[in-house]
Amino acid sequence: MSIDYLNKLARLRTDKNRNRWTEATTFRAPHKPFLLLSVMDIAAQSELTSPFIEPTFDLIERFARYWSLIMPVGTTGNMAYPFFHMQSEGFWKLVPKPGMENEIKDRITSSVTRLKSIVVGAEIDQELFLLFSEHKTREELRAVVLHTYFSPEIRQKLLLEASENQEAFEYSQKLLKAAEKIMSYGSEKPASIRDQGFRKAVMTLYAHRCALCGIRMLTPEGHTIVEAAHIRPWSDTNDDRPANGMALCRLCHWSFDRGFMSVGRQYEVLISPLSRQEQNNPGPIMTLEQRPIFRPSDEKHIPDQECLGWHRKEVFRK
Ligand SMILES: [Zn+2]
Repeated sequence: MSIDYLNKLARLRTDKNRNRWTEATTFRAPHKPFLLLSVMDIAAQSELTSPFIEPTFDLIERFARYWSLIMPVGTTGNMAYPFFHMQSEGFWKLVPKPGMENEIKDRITSSVTRLKSIVVGAEIDQELFLLFSEHKTREELRAVVLHTYFSPEIRQKLLLEASENQEAFEYSQKLLKAAEKIMSYGSEKPASIRDQGFRKAVMTLYAHRCALCGIRMLTPEGHTIVEAAHIRPWSDTNDDRPANGMALCRLCHWSFDRGFMSVGRQYEVLISPLSRQEQNNPGPIMTLEQRPIFRPSDEKHIPDQECLGWHRKEVFRK
């Protein structure tokens, strides 16, 4: 590959403040390196189809994941910051929304919400796009970023994170294709990969919406209220099909797992009479009773009545 981009990625303009940044990130701000690693992960999933990068939830989530893996607990990385300031690198050109041409010349873009209100995304050089798209060259660029901006132990962690994410992504793609019931699907995989892959598949199908109450809440920092829940526990039947799962918000997940809620034969929400007992005050949950659940449009991924039947019989408190 032309050493041009290897050099460019090795010479990012980053904040060098020894009081603020530690040896782990070679005494430099890790924002731009984390963003580039996130972009490369998206490219590895063949989801970068043109030299145009959008501040999608997936990208924000990848950035947040790298940040929380390496940086001290309690600090939050803001992806808006490097997304905006990467424009000083030459290969990254912000594309403003109509009428926002002057805003992108501002010095500071404080939040993802603000970023999304002024830019559509960023255009990268065609050549860099091609380098990101090819496995071999992308991994060479990744190695340069890891070597330049992170200490040796941290490099290993970041490399492992990238490869686990890729494996989980591939597993999720496999799950999304699997129509028929396959027991022990994925049992040969480490639990962390399986969990992440199952989660990715369910999140794709439900678009971060809770199947039971319909709530959808995402923070600009890449956090979501919903979790991927198995209807029948994986440990019972090793069934990771999305049809043995639903996206559930924390409240519904807890209530479902403890038998306060279930799903009926017509895909209606069932509420246990236990919810109404004296010490309980289920509040808004009662309004969901008999309402249709939110389900994926693709037939084959709709919750399996066999699994739901098991839940009604074994978990739900009648
Ligand atoms: Zn819910």
